[in-house]
Amino acid sequence: MKVLQTRKAVDAYLAEKRLAKAEIGFVPTMGALHRGHISLLEYALAENDIVVVSIFVNPSQFNNADDLAKYPRLPEQDLALLRKNGCHAVYMPDVADIYPEGLLVNDFDFGLLDKVMEGVHRPGHFAGVATVVKRFFEIVKPDRAYFGLKDFQQLAIVEAMVRQEKLAVKIVSCPTLREPDGLAMSSRNLRLSPQQRHAAPVIYESLMRLKSNVGSKKLQKARNMAIEEINAHPHLAVEYLDIVDADTLKPLENWEDATHAQVCTAVFAGTVRLIDNVNLY
Ligand code: AMP
Repeated sequence: MKVLQTRKAVDAYLAEKRLAKAEIGFVPTMGALHRGHISLLEYALAENDIVVVSIFVNPSQFNNADDLAKYPRLPEQDLALLRKNGCHAVYMPDVADIYPEGLLVNDFDFGLLDKVMEGVHRPGHFAGVATVVKRFFEIVKPDRAYFGLKDFQQLAIVEAMVRQEKLAVKIVSCPTLREPDGLAMSSRNLRLSPQQRHAAPVIYESLMRLKSNVGSKKLQKARNMAIEEINAHPHLAVEYLDIVDADTLKPLENWEDATHAQVCTAVFAGTVRLIDNVNLY
């Protein structure tokens, strides 16, 4: 497995592969890798000749300095895991390699997509995400790039960015991997105390209960029940829990207002912010 630290090194490595007509798959990550990330690598390995995984904790998408400082960083463990799972190359740039002109973000217009949910609670987050993903796509020029449905709104933003910028990359969405008790795998789970970790599966349980209430209870009633259920737990506090049109992300008033709906939530366990979502119909 090649470990590449600069865009020049990536260019040199991939130029050779492209000459040999290799199709390139790309999996962007922020490291502290878990089985969810590895599942993305596996999808990419199945569909491409060469797979590049990036590990980069992108400062421009953190609106909270403490969250950025405390984000887990485990490069040695990550490299061993990627090597073991057949990854061809890892791109681990430093901040200057990605932002040679400083931490500037592009000025995208995503309409409603970045004005709801995460967009409300993490101002500037999606401009940072779209900027860094675009930059990585320019460097790696992948044929396909793999993103988890765990970050449902992020996926919508990346798809919109690729459409707007007319980039020649196919975005592949991959299912959320969960712990046996239902908690969505996340690098941030490493920061949970034993009590918080014990409480956290309530998030997915409540989303699934909400799903079972679709149609039999009014939307706002079902939504409020889910919020109350999570908040009833002393270690958990809901930041938002919204039921949205799965295509436009517009919050719904009634079940009939969309053909596909998603419930998305952010929940604090102490200072650790967990997100999850479930397709409702
Ligand atoms: P992150 O390192 O958190 O930025 O995530 C990198 C990629 O892995 C993103 O596309 C995430 O959506 C995806 N991902 C994170 N957690 C999971 C999970 N539990 N299951 C599947 N994909 C995931």
